Amino acid sequence: MPHHSLHDLLDDTLAGHRLTEEEATRLFKTRGRDIWDVFAAADELRRRKVGDTVTYVRNQNIHITNICKNLCRFCGFGRRADDPGAFCDDLATVREKVQQARGRNVTEICLLSGVHPDYTLDSYIDLISCVREVAPEVDIHTASPDEIAWAAERSGVSSMEALEQLREVGLGTLQGTAAEILVDSVRAVICPNKCDTATWVRIIKEAHSLGIRSTATIMYGHCESEADRAQHLGILREIQDETGGFTELVPLSYLHENTVLYQRGLAPAGATGREDLLLFAVARLFLDNFDHIQISWGKVGTKMAQLGLMAGGDDLGGTMFCDDVSLDAGGEDADYLDPGEMQRIAEDLGRTLRQRTTTYDLIPGETRAGVIPGSCA
Ligand code: SF4
Repeated sequence: MPHHSLHDLLDDTLAGHRLTEEEATRLFKTRGRDIWDVFAAADELRRRKVGDTVTYVRNQNIHITNICKNLCRFCGFGRRADDPGAFCDDLATVREKVQQARGRNVTEICLLSGVHPDYTLDSYIDLISCVREVAPEVDIHTASPDEIAWAAERSGVSSMEALEQLREVGLGTLQGTAAEILVDSVRAVICPNKCDTATWVRIIKEAHSLGIRSTATIMYGHCESEADRAQHLGILREIQDETGGFTELVPLSYLHENTVLYQRGLAPAGATGREDLLLFAVARLFLDNFDHIQISWGKVGTKMAQLGLMAGGDDLGGTMFCDDVSLDAGGEDADYLDPGEMQRIAEDLGRTLRQRTTTYDLIPGETRAGVIPGSCA
């Protein structure tokens, strides 16, 4: 039976109806005061599923190189080797950066870099081994399916083998990045050199089958349609039904400023506030097999992030300490958020902030505010 009114659809969803992609498309198109009803339904589902706790992870991004084979058109970070500002750290520098992160008591180190054209599987093995040696207790969160595909191809091994070898040397969780929008016609416009949808899905499932969990991401607000967003969520939900390996959805709002896509007039100046909040809310309503929807303050800003927590979100992501990927694309203040400020945001909503691990185990103890941010390293 098709739902004639928005309210019937939301009521049925709260009663357990699994949204179809067509229905999600319709919800993404909500305008006017109806948007508050969609947010309220998502907020109610959030409350039922995970309660009133807002979580965050104490992590640090480490950028090793911005030299990238892909040069995605939505990205302001990746460069050619001879472009101004291109860098590639040696292992001694990586070691120093990891030591600094350790001094900040992080539980996760996120190696977030360009896909260097010369990297092989051995390059990733060396990097991960280096982090493992200096910080044996942290979760090493790195390598997107695109990086796995590239390293495996360059080294003449299967992606499964590459994943196994990386796990052996210390890979903790895989980055669910490079998903962007899992619709090949959109990928052909925004990231033509990245792996295709089928490869992304295959490698994520392989990782999950090995017990390597991952995030799931969606990068929206460029040239994708509402139906593309729904199709993307449909793919993620299907994978999660099969593997249960996703820890959370991380919606990544497109930052447009220094990107080819925007400069060539192929994309608007990012998502609007309505679109951001609807993305969080529809994701909460549609992804009935995900526990956590992360609100990425580095992409939407802290005020919008707080509203995101009222529209289905329950996690504020990481402290990060450094996010050149967002800064280079024109994101403001996207480098560090103190847990004390996260606490203020959560408590202002009557919710409680708790520190978590990468895989959402809650860490006992008080939230420790006021650490020294220092400069990006
Ligand atoms: S999004 Fe990632 S893969 Fe694409 S150009 Fe930027 S750094 Fe490279």
